[in-house]
Amino acid sequence: MLQELLVNFPLDRCDKHDERSLQLYCNTCRKTVCVACSVDATHRAHDKDEVRIRLVVAMKKLTVNLSRLKRSIIVSVVSLDYKLSDLNFVCYSPSKCLQMHRDIDSK
Ligand SMILES: [Zn+2]
Ligand SMILES: [Zn+2]
Repeated sequence: MLQELLVNFPLDRCDKHDERSLQLYCNTCRKTVCVACSVDATHRAHDKDEVRIRLVVAMKKLTVNLSRLKRSIIVSVVSLDYKLSDLNFVCYSPSKCLQMHRDIDSK
């Protein structure tokens, strides 16, 4: 699915070279450039990457962050579940429940 997305990813056209797509990223200028731009006097000596490769790296990072987020949500839901069952336990035991209501009312 990631591969599919990348193949279909629309690359913008270069302002200076209309027929070229911005498929390179100049790390020095922090901007996307086309192949013709990448060999001109400005960017020739600059450090450049392929935009698609940068996308793959960025997406992989996103996927990792997402699964981490998912895991932490599951952990908090599980601990919430525990707390709820604690609360149920209190309410099933009448003396504790009464005590709890007194505590709440006195506040
Ligand atoms: Zn260009
Ligand atoms: Zn540059």
